[in-house]
Formats: sequence, structure tokens, C-alpha cells
Amino acid sequence: MSDSQINKGVSVISEEVCQQVMGRANAFTAVENVFSAMAKKTAYNFPVIREAIGHADALYGFKSGFDREGMVLGLKSGGYWPSNMAKGLTNHQSTVILFDPDTGKLKSLVGGNYLTAVRTAASSAISIAYLARKDVKVLGMIGAGHQSTFQLRAAVEQRNFEKVVCWNLHPEHISNLAAVAEELGLPFESVTREELCAQADVIITITSAFEALIEKDWIKPGTHIACMGTDTKGKQEVDAKLLTVAKVFTDELAQSITIGEAQHAIARKLIQQSDIVPIGEVINGTKPGRTSAEDITLFDGTGVGLQDLAVAALAAELAEAKGLATYFKL
Ligand code: NAD
Repeated sequence: MSDSQINKGVSVISEEVCQQVMGRANAFTAVENVFSAMAKKTAYNFPVIREAIGHADALYGFKSGFDREGMVLGLKSGGYWPSNMAKGLTNHQSTVILFDPDTGKLKSLVGGNYLTAVRTAASSAISIAYLARKDVKVLGMIGAGHQSTFQLRAAVEQRNFEKVVCWNLHPEHISNLAAVAEELGLPFESVTREELCAQADVIITITSAFEALIEKDWIKPGTHIACMGTDTKGKQEVDAKLLTVAKVFTDELAQSITIGEAQHAIARKLIQQSDIVPIGEVINGTKPGRTSAEDITLFDGTGVGLQDLAVAALAAELAEAKGLATYFKL
């Protein structure tokens, strides 16, 4: 932290300012860099704390880590309150707290709700950029909640998609996603899950499901699947047997096998930890990604603290440079 920053105090970056300064391209690069750093072991995530608190059906937790290259230290606190939508709030509530790695002093408080959505969308977009076939045409969306529109916007920037197909447990929510597809100029069709798998070349799952929504035998060769909803023990979006025929990639191995989509295939001994490749290795060119047009690739995007810290640190830097941050002293 520079002397002038110390004098100004702790910077506060509001949700509104985050939306002003953090675009999808910036989020993509920040997350790509931190996945690369994780694979090089210059950045690491600390163990996640996530608890059902026994109130308001909420899941609450901390995700934290340190990026030695980017000099970013901090945590994201927050979780998932399923009844918030009825109160006009998003179900996810997150705040990022950044500390100065040289002194441990509190540096910034950054609104984490918008950033969580853009960093999660950046993660699946990175998986599409590195793992999907170049000639994909149809994007399948399983889930139409808050995250889904961010996912859709980031995904369509990676390939020349010509159509979006969607399934959602609650059909009344599909119109939000359909409106974004229309805005993006893409035909949109609401279909069954089996039909979605038959049509889609890339599938994003972004639900709160606790059982498989996609069967192994529904997936056609060459498909890329980004499993983005499973971020807690017990959650599940796809058939565990699908991981035996897919090439499996993840943001972080430790989370993938415990709270990610791979937890079920690992627990049933269908695959081993060594079958899962951190996507940072593909980004760095140290491990191959897709090796044939027939490969089924599956990205287990569990959501790591370093993703949050990377986008929050960049948002703080941009906001401070543009005079959009406010300051206080503790
Ligand atoms: P949301 O509450 O706005 O939407 C939830 C979605 O899941 C809706 O589409 C809903 O219809 C669907 N759903 C709920 N229960 C289901 C069930 N039993 N079967 C099938 N579908 C079901 O939530 P959101 O903000 O869109 O987040 C979606 C999921 O993504 C959450 O589970 C959240 O924890 C997860 N998430 C993951 C990351 C990550 O980095 N991997 C980041 C943010 C959110």
C-alpha cells in the first residue's frame, strides 16, 4: 500500500461502481490469470468454510486466498439466502474484503454480488474458450436463475452460437433468459432436458439441484459441458457416470472432489483425482485440453476465492484510479 493510500484509509467500492468499472473482458482476463497462477502454484486458495446456519435456510461461508504474483490477499464473505428474491434482493449476498499483503492492514471493501456473477460467468466462458470445439452452434442452458443471464452473455462471446435452448425447473423464470437471448439476436427455444442434450454443442448447468439433471447417455460426442451450479457438498447437476466418459477439468482440484460436481464420481470411485485436470494447466499449455472433435469435455466450475479476489482487486484499482471509490478510516 502506498503512503497516499494509507492516508486516504480504506476504500469502499459499491455494487454500482463495480458494475461501472468491471466489464466481461476485464473479468475474463483477471480470472484466466489467476487460474494460470493457481496452476503455477504462485496463488493458492485457503480451505473453504461453508455452513448451513440453521436460519432462513441460508448457506454462509468464507472463501479466501493469496495471489503472490498479483499481490492480492483477502476473503469473500457471504452465501446463499434462497428466500431473498421475494424481498427484492438477490439470493447470493457477498462482500469482498481486501488486505495489504505487506502489512495486513485492511485495504478495501468491495461489493461482491455483481462481481460473483461476472467472475462465475468468466469461469465458464474460459472453459468454453479453451475446451469447446471451434464449430459449436447451439448453446444449452440448464437453469434460468440470477446467474444464468450473466452466463449466457459471457458464453456467446466465445463462439459463434446460432441458437440457445433452455430448460428450467421453474418455467416461469425462463422469460428472463429468453429476453437476453433476444437482445443478443439469438433464437431461443424452451425444451426438455433430453432434447436440450440432443441439440446443444455446449451446455451450461447453473442450478441449485441436488440430483442429476442430465443423464450420461443423453450427451452426444463432442459436447462441452460447464457445470457451474454445484458448489456445496451434496449438490449435483449431472449423472456421475458422465464423468467416466468425459475429459474432466476444474478450477481447483481440492474443491472439485469435495464440493464440486466431481464429488459424486469420486465418492463412488468411478474416477480418481488424477483424472481431473486444473484448467490453469490447459491455459499454461502444460496439459492438453480437448484432443479430438469427439471428446466430451466437462468443466467442474466450483468457484474459488481467488476468482473473487482477482476481480475485486481489479475493480478497486479501476475505481480508485477513476475517482469512484469512497474512503473511511477505522
Ligand atoms: P437462483 O436462486 O437465482 O436460481 C436457482 C436456479 O436453480 C433456478 O434456475 C432454479 O429453477 C434452479 N433450481 C433450484 N432448485 C432446483 C432443483 N432441485 N432442480 C433443478 N433446478 C433447480 O440462483 P443463482 O444465483 O442463479 O445460482 C444458481 C446456482 O449456482 C446456485 O446453486 C449457486 O450456489 C451456484 N453458484 C455457483 C457459483 C460457482 O462459482 N460455481 C457461483 C455462483 C453461484
